[in-house]
Amino acid sequence: MPFKSREARLEYAKEYYNTNKTFHLKKAKENHQTEKGKQSHRISQWKYAGMVSDDWEAVYKWYNETNNCEFCSVELIKGKGGGNQKHLDHNHETGEVRHILCGKCNVAFTDKRRTKEEAELHKKEKVKCDCGSLITRQHLPRHIKESKIHQKKMKALEEIKNNMPSI
Ligand SMILES: [Zn+2]
Ligand SMILES: [Zn+2]
Repeated sequence: MPFKSREARLEYAKEYYNTNKTFHLKKAKENHQTEKGKQSHRISQWKYAGMVSDDWEAVYKWYNETNNCEFCSVELIKGKGGGNQKHLDHNHETGEVRHILCGKCNVAFTDKRRTKEEAELHKKEKVKCDCGSLITRQHLPRHIKESKIHQKKMKALEEIKNNMPSI
């Protein structure tokens, strides 16, 4: 619709936004924050990426419940970026869903320039745990869960943090 001035247009937009704000926020919440909404959003992303499945609900459940890379066992993180991000790996020719992998293993599997040997190396690569120990990726989840040394070091670090004078 035509407006007399830029100000008039901005004023209209502002008013429109304010009147509809609650409605839009509610809609966005319904669509993305409910479990069903998250699920259908995720599944549509997979379909868009060319993946194929007979049972998307089962794939989603599997994806949600997998917390470690199926190849190197590293603990997977949600969100964007980082080598430990959770990926649903698929066959790029058939679209068939194959594995749930960390970012690095996903690249190793799908990028033809990389080989399985490189993925194998990645699995044995040492990473620094929060406690300061150097642990191979494949042993990191077990180290965090079961290692007495890890628990001792984490406890000591926690105590240091608690005894720090606040500024
Ligand atoms: Zn991995
Ligand atoms: Zn540790």
